[in-house]
Amino acid sequence: MTSYRPKSGLEAAIARLIAPRVQQITEQVAEAARDNAPPTKTWKSQGDALVRPEHRAADGQEVPENLRFVVGSPAYDQQHYGAGPHQQLREPRDPEGTPGATVNCRCQTVSDPDGIARNIHAHPVTVSGSRIVGVVTCHGNRVVDSEFGTDKDDAARFMGRAIDEVARRLRR
Ligand SMILES: [Zn+2]
Repeated sequence: MTSYRPKSGLEAAIARLIAPRVQQITEQVAEAARDNAPPTKTWKSQGDALVRPEHRAADGQEVPENLRFVVGSPAYDQQHYGAGPHQQLREPRDPEGTPGATVNCRCQTVSDPDGIARNIHAHPVTVSGSRIVGVVTCHGNRVVDSEFGTDKDDAARFMGRAIDEVARRLRR
């Protein structure tokens, strides 16, 4: 029986050698996440006096494509259609919305293919002792809901799929 004791500092030296490879992998995950990220959509009202107040408030709301906008319900719809104070609309005039939130609506949406992708970043790896950590971040309105889904909306899983894809490539 022999036992191996690494010379003090050896593990840290190895970690520093491996760090550039971990940096590459971190960047590959970020790249794959950008490829998988859904577009965003932004609610745009006509901006004139006829726009209902709830849609004036929704103007500029940017959400990931797989999610619904959260839009205020008019008081009438809350009293007569059982709507909550807010309802979720896939787009203006969503047929699942209540009449007061949809009928004669002239709002539009604007899609941005890179709305999420541009906010996905790989950060420099950190080495502490024998530990190497690579970090990929994504920030933006409701990106966590987009990744994991909600009770109504399916998960986009762009981060999870990115990790799966890179792991599969590394196994080959
Ligand atoms: Zn509208």
